[in-house]
Amino acid sequence: MSEKIKKIWNKFRFFRSLRARIFIIVFLVGIIPGIILRYGILENYEDRAVSVRTSDMQNQLNIIANHLITYNYLADTSSEVISAELEQLSNLYDGRVMIINSSLKVIKDTYGTSEGKTVITEAVIKCMKDGIGGSNYDNEYGYIEITTPIIETAVAETAAGNEGPSGMGKKQDVVRGVMLTSVSTDSINVTLDILSRRALLLEVLMLIAIFAIALILSGVLMKPFERVAKAISEVKEGYRDEPISVPDYLETEHIVDAFNQLQNRMRVLDTSRQEFVANVSHELKTPITSVKVLADSLLAQENVPAELYKEFMLDIAEEIEREDKIINDLLSMVKMDKAVAMMNISVVDVNALTEIVLKRLRPISRKRDIEVVFESKRAVTAEADEVKLTLIITNLVENAIKYNKEQGWVKVLLDADHQFFTLEIMDSGIGIPEESLEHIYERFYRVDKSHSREIGGTGLGLAITRNAVLMHRGSIRVSSTVGEGTVFTVKIPLNYIAS
Ligand code: ADP
Repeated sequence: MSEKIKKIWNKFRFFRSLRARIFIIVFLVGIIPGIILRYGILENYEDRAVSVRTSDMQNQLNIIANHLITYNYLADTSSEVISAELEQLSNLYDGRVMIINSSLKVIKDTYGTSEGKTVITEAVIKCMKDGIGGSNYDNEYGYIEITTPIIETAVAETAAGNEGPSGMGKKQDVVRGVMLTSVSTDSINVTLDILSRRALLLEVLMLIAIFAIALILSGVLMKPFERVAKAISEVKEGYRDEPISVPDYLETEHIVDAFNQLQNRMRVLDTSRQEFVANVSHELKTPITSVKVLADSLLAQENVPAELYKEFMLDIAEEIEREDKIINDLLSMVKMDKAVAMMNISVVDVNALTEIVLKRLRPISRKRDIEVVFESKRAVTAEADEVKLTLIITNLVENAIKYNKEQGWVKVLLDADHQFFTLEIMDSGIGIPEESLEHIYERFYRVDKSHSREIGGTGLGLAITRNAVLMHRGSIRVSSTVGEGTVFTVKIPLNYIAS
């Protein structure tokens, strides 16, 4: 089902483009007010024209109604004046006037067809009863029907004793009949037709103009985004390398900024990759070169005594061991780089683990007569990757021993609060100069290259250590005084926080 929808949606891909949307919005915003205005004005015109026509007619009819009373037309329809007035009115307004007397009989019809007939319509009866005229517009057949009461104001005979002091009777309106008039609204409709045709023509012209404007506008508004896409693809294809700039809109500026930052980051990554490859090649080459020099010098001599062979072979074996160490360090670093998903978390007894590591390192500390002390404030168990935690402790304690003085000391302190455990590795060693502190975690960085090489350093140990700490979402800090010693502090959460 969703596949089907996707297929249909793909067919309308066009509508997913911002350009199409801008076009549609501009087009609709342009055209809708025109349409509303047209219907509004035409409708209004019709209402207004009908009401003007109705009130005109009503005025005229009221005058005639008065004349009908004056000429006593209801009793005698022979009045020429009235006939002429009625004729004129019906000609002028293309209408028909019927005069109906109080017994609902038509006494005059300007069409002459209904005279003598009885008219019983709601409007007529109502008008006759209330003495109030009314009108009704029939939109479908195009006419207005008007009822006008024919009212005679008579002085009523009032009951005796009720006469006023002036002796005058009370004036009273008596409905003597009704004029039923229908007027055609053809002329209004003709005007309406003309107006609506003109409006349509204007609308079509407007439609064409708005279509063109929407097309141009959507194109112009989208231009900067096209420029962004072009600039990015130029970078992608390698035609340009410098930062791109499309400052037309804030939006394009943001996109371009983000892209430039990404490009910068890639550049930095690329540089560090190149540096790394160069460093690795150099580090791997050094022992090989030494091996070659040793072997060549043996080969160049004749009758070399066996002791010399042995001595050179020992050197060669040392270099090979060094090469092996570098390769091992590189491998553990690559493994560490791969993914946090590689974490193998278990509950680790940190006290026991530290003891094991220290025991393993005892031969090298003994060799240099360095005292290694372990102090634990409490028993600590934590969720951690045992192999990586071993690497962290080993590297830091090994460094503390390696970069120490003869007969120095190394102290390992373990403590924990409810959230973290802290390992402090202190030594009485040579210390790290201030300016080197920010570099010691870089791959292959060594404060004193020749010294580090002498004691078998690869410059990868702290890079690996820091990675392992970060993978546990922990932190590592260092403080050091040259000639006095160094303190590394590692803080790791007791409960592993998966990302
Ligand atoms: P290496 O394999 O050379 O020991 P590391 O990455 O472990 O490489 O350490 C980087 C450099 O930091 C070392 O070469 C050394 O100069 C310095 N360093 C590390 N630990 C200590 C320490 N405890 N005391 C003094 N210097 C240290």
